[in-house]
Amino acid sequence: MTSLRKGLARTRQSFFGRIAQAFGATEIDEDTWDDVEALLIQADVGVPTTLRLMERLKERVRRDGITRQDQLTEALKDELRKLLTEPTPLNLSGRELSVMLIAGVNGSGKTTTIGKIAYRMRLNNRKVIIAAGDTFRAAAIDQLKLWGERAGVPVIAGLPNSDPAAVVYDAISAARARHAEVLIVDTAGRLHSNFNLMAELVKVRDVLRKVIPDAPHETLLVLDGTTGQNALTQAKKFQEAIDVTGVVVTKLDSTAKGGMLFAIQQELGLPIHYVGIGESVYDLVFFNPAKFVDSLFENGDEDEE
Ligand code: GDP
Ligand code: MG
Repeated sequence: MTSLRKGLARTRQSFFGRIAQAFGATEIDEDTWDDVEALLIQADVGVPTTLRLMERLKERVRRDGITRQDQLTEALKDELRKLLTEPTPLNLSGRELSVMLIAGVNGSGKTTTIGKIAYRMRLNNRKVIIAAGDTFRAAAIDQLKLWGERAGVPVIAGLPNSDPAAVVYDAISAARARHAEVLIVDTAGRLHSNFNLMAELVKVRDVLRKVIPDAPHETLLVLDGTTGQNALTQAKKFQEAIDVTGVVVTKLDSTAKGGMLFAIQQELGLPIHYVGIGESVYDLVFFNPAKFVDSLFENGDEDEE
């Protein structure tokens, strides 16, 4: 399994680790503050969150009587940690069948993430079924089936271009017949227009609710970490259309913009549940704020774990 530290190598080497390295036992001056601010912006922490953070950091330096740059690194880590909240466990147990809807634009990593989550759940002895709700492209169905095989989890699919709501309906029946505990629903990320995409998501959700009134129990939005601040704009559109309950950030291994996680948490107010750090079935980690911040700064041994 890839470690989070390894997955965050680009972000660390480009930004946060550089701060830690550059800051020595010298006095904090105006340039120091400019450097911190510039690095946060470049790491895609976003302007509002960066400004908030800078304010808190300056206040803290005053309060604690911090004068040296190396002390500032510790204060920065601590303030970054405070921007993140510990995610609550996914609401996917305590009932006969729990449903998790997965949404996000095309290419964000929905299908891959579903495969990884299904694999984890199966390792934890949970009985999982996947619904191939992205019927828009034939290749999408085949790709999901392949992930189902990797994860050892059955995939319920219809024909290409069939009604996703019907596929979801069939998948619920199959899940019940097989006494599955969790149904994960894949969805399309691109239709003829943004309007169609949201309308279809709402339709899928409504079909779920018709059969299971409190479903979906989780609606996770998958955001591509390499798109930085653009992911936030997307997320707001999804939030307007459906009740998103949490976020998965993918591709942190291929970006230096890992700072966007702070903006997601601050500006969307949504818990981050998982982060994707590669293309294999193992490359998914539960989001842990303290570990995340440590991995952004600490070099450690890149080959451990
Ligand atoms: P979907 O259109 O939202 O279903 O996205 P896919 O699951 O098909 O993923 C799109 C591309 O992103 C694929 O090439 C995946 O291998 C890749 N991908 C997904 N998650 C990750 C990740 O965490 N790291 C990396 N490096 N690539 C990823
Ligand atoms: Mg897909």
